[in-house]
Amino acid sequence: MELKDSIDTLKGVGPKKKELFFKYGIETIEDLLLFYPKSFEDRRTVTKIEKLRAGETFLVTGQILSSRSRTLKYKKQSTLSLTVSDETGIMDVTFFNSYYNSSYLKKGDRYTFYGKVTDNFNGRYQMLHPEMHREGSAEDIRGIIPVYPSITGISQNEIRKLQMQIKPVYEKVKEWLPEELLKNNNLAGLPFAIQNLHFPCYGKEYLMAKYRLIFDEFLTMEAGLFFMRGDKGIKEECVRINTDCVNEFVDKLPFSLTDGQILVWEDIAKDLSSPKAMNRLIQGDVGSGKTVIAEMAMYAAAKNDYQSVMMAPTEILAKQHYISLQKDFNQYGINIGLLCSSMKQADKVETLNRVAEGKIHILVGTHAVIEPGVKFKNLGIVITDEQHRFGVNQRKILTEKGKNPNVMVMTATPIPRTLAVILYGDFDISQIKTMPKGRKIIKTIAGTQKNRKSIYEFIKGELKSGHQAYVVAPLIEESEKIDALSAEELYDELKEVFSSFNLALIHGAMKQNEKDLIMEQFSEGKIDMLISTVVIEVGINVPNATVMVIENSERFGLAQMHQLRGRVGRGNDQSYCFVISHNESQVSKERCQILCNCADGFKIAEEDLRLRGPGEIFGTRQHGLPEMHFGDIIRHADVLEKAKDVARSILKEDPALSQPKYLHLKERLVKMFGRNISLNL
Ligand code: ADP
Ligand code: MG
Repeated sequence: MELKDSIDTLKGVGPKKKELFFKYGIETIEDLLLFYPKSFEDRRTVTKIEKLRAGETFLVTGQILSSRSRTLKYKKQSTLSLTVSDETGIMDVTFFNSYYNSSYLKKGDRYTFYGKVTDNFNGRYQMLHPEMHREGSAEDIRGIIPVYPSITGISQNEIRKLQMQIKPVYEKVKEWLPEELLKNNNLAGLPFAIQNLHFPCYGKEYLMAKYRLIFDEFLTMEAGLFFMRGDKGIKEECVRINTDCVNEFVDKLPFSLTDGQILVWEDIAKDLSSPKAMNRLIQGDVGSGKTVIAEMAMYAAAKNDYQSVMMAPTEILAKQHYISLQKDFNQYGINIGLLCSSMKQADKVETLNRVAEGKIHILVGTHAVIEPGVKFKNLGIVITDEQHRFGVNQRKILTEKGKNPNVMVMTATPIPRTLAVILYGDFDISQIKTMPKGRKIIKTIAGTQKNRKSIYEFIKGELKSGHQAYVVAPLIEESEKIDALSAEELYDELKEVFSSFNLALIHGAMKQNEKDLIMEQFSEGKIDMLISTVVIEVGINVPNATVMVIENSERFGLAQMHQLRGRVGRGNDQSYCFVISHNESQVSKERCQILCNCADGFKIAEEDLRLRGPGEIFGTRQHGLPEMHFGDIIRHADVLEKAKDVARSILKEDPALSQPKYLHLKERLVKMFGRNISLNL
């Protein structure tokens, strides 16, 4: 038997089962061996019959007192009923269409049963369809039993038996970490780990096996991230920017910086003027004023004859930045360029030429700025706004357009420290901890369908006094399957309710120029109410808007609603957020309550984490990171730190992973990251 043998070389796997396995990506014996259990059943402790409880699963050992089998001919169904006793009591055991026959079930012999217990009509407990074995027989259902992810058409027992069959090849699995690394970090060898995962014995070995596999996942991920970052130690010849000139820019701002902004700027100024390239993550809640910090950095760059580039996740946001940068920098003779994929080819070419000649000092755009045709004369600062929307690789491509430029990433996503450490690795982190003065807390009110009328009346009052409102709905079109109000439907409805005002609809499926036009009109105050899907989620800044209505709040994550709410409360007037839930469940109420009582994005994210678990919020997919089977970046934060240290030192020792001892690691990276990673193998 070899690792690469097809799965149908195994006993019990014919063409039909082979098909079934194929559907789950299991084609070879190696694939099966790497098909790890998702959990375990602990069947080590025998429970006495008098201690049983209905509704739970137990392991019971007892003697068969009687057995009776009945066949309902017309129903083609048979039942087998046993009476089983131990020293403490009697229980019934029932099988439907059982394959056990009377020669296996001997009255008077002792058997062990594992199954779910229910109440029986005769006042005794009954175990339904348990797994069982006879005492002293070769089979044994006790121990720690692996539970595999389910494969339609193949039973757990079959998978377990197949694992038993391939057990001899576990030894042939190639260890992919160098011996010394295993030793230095007290890691179990791979064959040992695999064996103990499929056939766990008592505690310690199993924990070592699991630790090893968690470590593997984290190490591969971190090594991949370090590799993509091109983390090759201290780099020479980096861009240095003198920041003294920034005072003249700050003095002319219409507001004074908050304490939080000043502290963060001090970090940045130090980075910019030092011989090591800046690599900094700026975290700040929505509305904390991250943009002006970016402007200060770009101002300094321009005054030092360097270009800057700022990448935003959506075209709307890129254009908004473009307009406000033009306004803010016009008086200083600093030229701003815009690059989006929807632009006319001729305009693009012109912009590209001016960027290449150095005539544009600051380029703003969407992903379009990372395209190969974009070449800078002298790139000094790379900024990504709302960083969580971009993959690591995209940031790297952008950085490579300059000679070791300074990198700054901005995000409003309140990421817990542990996660920030993974996603941003060697980034230094600065946090804007204060909000601009005079900001009033946004009054947040939870409502249901019933309150809609009075909410609308209230909004009319706000609109009459010249303010504007957003209404967010989760879907574009009515769908039978999903019970959500569609934006279009809502728009039609609201047009009637608010007939004396200007309403507009904006959604993701619209053409870019239509969206732009509407956003422009909204920010100029020509539209009173904007009905929208989540396209307005990030970054949009219209200080005159004071009302945010979120429909179907149960469909949104808390953190996401906090972002949406952050679209209002940007000026000096009192703002309001209505969260309308179409579902009156407890969790839904609890969520609304949290949002109403809390204005702090970090606390909200923590609560979201508690209510929904890490998977949904920080789904690795969303970040473009590989999926984990064992590793949980929140729960196993300590293992993660360690794996990260090891990954860092490996990449430091061998940045290209060209030494033979790292060959397997390199192969794993390619497997894990796929085409995302450009390793020269
Ligand atoms: P975010 O951090 O969410 O990106 P912005 O940078 O868009 O926030 O800033 C939100 C609003 O606050 C903008 O209108 C900006 O001009 C304003 N702002 C920024 N800093 C200050 C400050 N120190 N005092 C008053 N207003 C400020
Ligand atoms: Mg912003």
